[in-house]
Amino acid sequence: MTPLASAGDGKRRADPRRRRIVRGILVMLVAAIGNAGCTHDIHLAPAPPLAAATTTTGPWASMIFAARTDSGVVVIDLGWTGADKALRSLLTQLGATTADVRWTFLTHAHRDHIGAWRTVQASTLVLGRDEIPFFTGSARYTGLVPRIGDRLVSYPHPGKGELRLLPIATDTAFVLGRDTLRAFPVPGHTAGSTVYLFRETLFAGDAVNWRVTSGFRGARSEYSDDPKRSRASLASLLRRIDSAGVRWRVLCTAHGKCGLADSTLRARILR
Ligand SMILES: [Zn+2]
Repeated sequence: MTPLASAGDGKRRADPRRRRIVRGILVMLVAAIGNAGCTHDIHLAPAPPLAAATTTTGPWASMIFAARTDSGVVVIDLGWTGADKALRSLLTQLGATTADVRWTFLTHAHRDHIGAWRTVQASTLVLGRDEIPFFTGSARYTGLVPRIGDRLVSYPHPGKGELRLLPIATDTAFVLGRDTLRAFPVPGHTAGSTVYLFRETLFAGDAVNWRVTSGFRGARSEYSDDPKRSRASLASLLRRIDSAGVRWRVLCTAHGKCGLADSTLRARILR
């Protein structure tokens, strides 16, 4: 085992850079354990034959959702480890291929939600306007864990012109034949975090988190650029959905944790 310190002068003095890296790995591992594992009531999300959801492998269990509409296949979020294979398998369940994906909606561009971006190159990728610099790699997240992760291990970003990006900065409705998909900016977890309401399900990204110990609540501070702003955005979101008169029945986080959107859940996500 490589020692973390040398004992040259009789005292153990750790190399500061190595100590930072080890601390970073420990923080990420602890955070991963807290976020981990399996899905929770993912069956509440729209299901086959017209829609399907899965999570990619690894401790993060990042969700990918796909659905057939009159205007082609839509995908929400792109997973992480093994995302390309997971997405293709999901599309097979719908009798579709990657060429059928017309719209891809990203809740945000943290590395664990964009894994399969190369697989959907033929689609239009919709994301928050303020998220684009982070997606393309010209800006860096400031949340504790993403910041440490960026220092330790890089990940691929799309180059200029490589993808067709559609930025949104205000509440926006996409009419897809008989379906309407609504996008609502909820800045805070990241600057351009956006949630999507589709077939009575709110795809809340990481603006909402679920843990065994605490159930549903707002964005986790160690992953978020501005958790206080995220909570304010969620409070505003609930008012905006209500004033638009749009019904929603289910909420799913970007890690495959779903629940019925009753008054208890609506109160809990503001915590
Ligand atoms: Zn995130």
